[in-house]
Order: sequence, then structure tokens, then C-alpha cells
Amino acid sequence: MSSERFTLPTRLDAASGIDLHMHSTASDGAFSPTDLVHLAAARGVKFMALTDHDTLAGVDEACAAGRAAGVAVLPGVEVSSQWQGVGIHIVALLPQAPGDILLEGLARQAEARLARNEEVARRLEKAGFSDAWRKAQQQAGERTALGRPDFARAMVEEGLVPDMKTAFRKYLGAGKVGDVKQPWPGLSAAIDWIVAGGGIALVAHPLRYRLTRKKLTALLDDAGAAGAAGAELVSGFQNEDQGRDLAQILTRRSMMGSLGSDFHFQGGPVAPGRFGAIPRTALPPVWTHPRLSEWCRQNGLSDADPL
Ligand code: AMP
Ligand code: MN
Ligand code: MN
Ligand code: MN
Repeated sequence: MSSERFTLPTRLDAASGIDLHMHSTASDGAFSPTDLVHLAAARGVKFMALTDHDTLAGVDEACAAGRAAGVAVLPGVEVSSQWQGVGIHIVALLPQAPGDILLEGLARQAEARLARNEEVARRLEKAGFSDAWRKAQQQAGERTALGRPDFARAMVEEGLVPDMKTAFRKYLGAGKVGDVKQPWPGLSAAIDWIVAGGGIALVAHPLRYRLTRKKLTALLDDAGAAGAAGAELVSGFQNEDQGRDLAQILTRRSMMGSLGSDFHFQGGPVAPGRFGAIPRTALPPVWTHPRLSEWCRQNGLSDADPL
């Protein structure tokens, strides 16, 4: 642990050195949990969460690396769910040991992902990409929980599309043939798994689902009713006007806000601790959540001195 205590900002819009959404090789990120923590530390991140897709496999390694590097690493996971025909991600921050219900849920997620990937491969083959599963598995190396990025990378390699972006735009993104979300649990079930064990559930990147404003508010209402504490106010780089509007939508619902880069690999605009501008807002930061602020104190992050 570093000798100097990191003081948590009381306002979201004063935050720096905090990144509560990142991926490692335990899911579709490029860096091992240890290397990710080292990269974050080198970039001045003092408080981070590892939030791999549907798995906690990288968490122990990341926490150990964090203890050695002076970064407070909060266990987390990004749970795939579905709501009204849209694939919705829920970020779980886990200041307590994950409960059995979440662990059982994640075991089922592994099966759901397997079934989902069989269907993705079947559909891509129908669309002209032969041997899709084997080629995606080649991209994933030893990792067996394939993600859509593995299919996308394989399609680029095969010369079917010029880049990953096009693979998602034409084949794998929301509403395209390879977007299979039926095996995922419903939104409220995913939130239940998280909250049952004392975890904090947040709607991940609310602006990335391209919902109408009406649908977005319905999503946040449903998530809140199911027990979500809030949502990610800023995820990576997002439209600033929409970010300001999101701050208002969340404020009106008395929800909390979180921040994260959703970092996967280098070369893009995001990096650990680097994401778009935070709108001016008095929305309470998720680290002021009673269950999380206790964890923060125990992990060398202190509350701001009262004024
Ligand atoms: P999966 O977990 O298999 O459903 O894959 C979802 C992942 O695909 C996301 O977490 C991103 O890492 C990636 N992804 C989603 N949309 C895009 C996109 N338009 N371009 C590149 N990667 C994307
Ligand atoms: Mn991903
Ligand atoms: Mn996501
Ligand atoms: Mn993510």
C-alpha cells in the first residue's frame, strides 16, 4: 500500500484516479489482471474495479497485484442480462465476498454463454462465415468463454470485413444476426444475484444501448425497482449532451453515479482512468454508498475531510 492515503472526492465531477469498469484476459480484455493493475497504477489510478464479463476469475490476481502496487482493487463483474429484447449489462461492485446466489448465477452464465455462442456461430455460418466457432476459438486462445469480439476478430482475419467495427455494425452489434441475448437472465434476476450477497448493482453504460429517452428512463426505473443503486454516469467516451441529460435523469430518481473507462485494450481512446468529461452534477458518487464507503476506508481510501 502506498503511504499516502487517497482522499475520495465527494463529488463525481471532481473525480480523478478512479476507474470502476475494466476488463482483463479473464474475459475479453488484452491485459492479464496483474498487467492491467500495473498499467492502471502507472497511469495514476488509485481506486479501480475489475469487471470482467460474467466471471470473477481475474479478481484474486488483480487484488493481490493491487496490494503490491498501492491500488485499491474492488472485486467486480459485468453481468450480461436482457430487458425488453435488448442486451443490458449490469456492473456489480462487490465490497463483500460474493454470495452463493451470484456464484451460482455466474456458473449458469458460463452455460448460457456456451449456448449463446453456439447460436452465434450457427447464425454467422448461415450468413456465409464457415467454421465460425473454430475460428473464433483460435482468436480466444486458451480462454473458452468466447465473446462476440472473438467472432469479430475472426471475421476480420478471414477478410469478410475490414475491421472489428464493421463486424459489429454488420453482423454482431445490437439487432444484427449475431446479437443473441435470449440465453441471458432477465435484468431483475441479474440484479437480484448481485444484491442478495451485499453487492452493489449499476446499469452499465446506459447510453450505449441507443435507447430512446423514454426507453432509457423505463430501463432505469425497472433497474431501480429491482434493486440497482444507480448507473454509470460516464462510460468511456460518450456524447456530452446526453451525459448531462443522464445526470438529470439519475438525479430525479435518487440514483447514484459511477465512472469507468470500460478499458479492454490499448490503441483506442480509452485507457485505465481515462474517459470522457464528467458532467457537472451533484449526483452522489457510488463510493459514498454505505456498503462501499466502509470497504474504501478499510482499503486505504479515506473520505474527504468534512468542510
Ligand atoms: P459479449 O460479451 O460476447 O456479448 O460481447 C460484448 C462485447 O463486445 C462488449 O463488451 C465489447 O467488448 C464488444 N463490443 C460490443 N459492441 C462493439 C462494437 N460496436 N465494436 C467493438 N466491440 C464491441
Ligand atoms: Mn467486452
Ligand atoms: Mn458492457
Ligand atoms: Mn465492459
